[in-house]
Amino acid sequence: MRKKLVAGNWKMHGSLAENAALLAAIKPALSGIEAVVCVPFPYLAQVHAALAGSSIAWGAQNVSEQAKGAFTGEVSTSMLLDFGCRYVIVGHSERRSLYGESDELVADKYMAAQAAGLTPILCVGESLEERECGVTEAVVARQLDAVIKRAGVTSLSRAIVAYEPVWAIGTGKTATPEQAQAVHAFIRGKIAALDAGVADQLIIQYGGSVKAANAAELMVQPDIDGGLIGGASLLADEFIAICRAAAK
Ligand code: PEP
Repeated sequence: MRKKLVAGNWKMHGSLAENAALLAAIKPALSGIEAVVCVPFPYLAQVHAALAGSSIAWGAQNVSEQAKGAFTGEVSTSMLLDFGCRYVIVGHSERRSLYGESDELVADKYMAAQAAGLTPILCVGESLEERECGVTEAVVARQLDAVIKRAGVTSLSRAIVAYEPVWAIGTGKTATPEQAQAVHAFIRGKIAALDAGVADQLIIQYGGSVKAANAAELMVQPDIDGGLIGGASLLADEFIAICRAAAK
């Protein structure tokens, strides 16, 4: 049995005061339920202090592929480890589309994260145009292949994949459970063709306008193993309900 895991992606939201209130609400409510929050870099110290010893782990939303040096504005894996991070999102569609991150750069970041002992949450997913052109599977396969080529299929035993159709992120438009399940099954099948054991154990999260109201129907799909949650992860009641739906 694969476990289900929900991760929150706070994106560029929050303040010390807002985070304190959110963390104070979710920490006791999720006692005993494994979950993750991926927060902006400046707040890693705050979540480190607030969540230490709880069932909620934390991480970042991006990381440099470089270990150290003259890379102004970048944050390294060792810096994330200094603040107790266990996870890091790589290849989020906003990083790919707004900051020009290529499949190859995402693979380098994935490699760097794993080399440091962090678990990468590797985001893949197609745009609306790509879906309408019928190339969803080809796009997702290309994004996965870049990582498999760089790090090998067995590396996926130390990673999480998040399928996030770009057209469903922050739009309020969720993939139907059937649409999401179909792509999740494709991802698992593609990996199973290379290594059945890795595919069987791999956590594949769904992301894209997940909320308390639609979480349960997504989480019961056989190949959906949790969620990557943007907007709803900023609302304590929503995030708690989603985590509880996944844990059922
Ligand atoms: C995300 O940021 O990864 C995401 C899925 O956002 P939202 O839940 O707001 O669509």
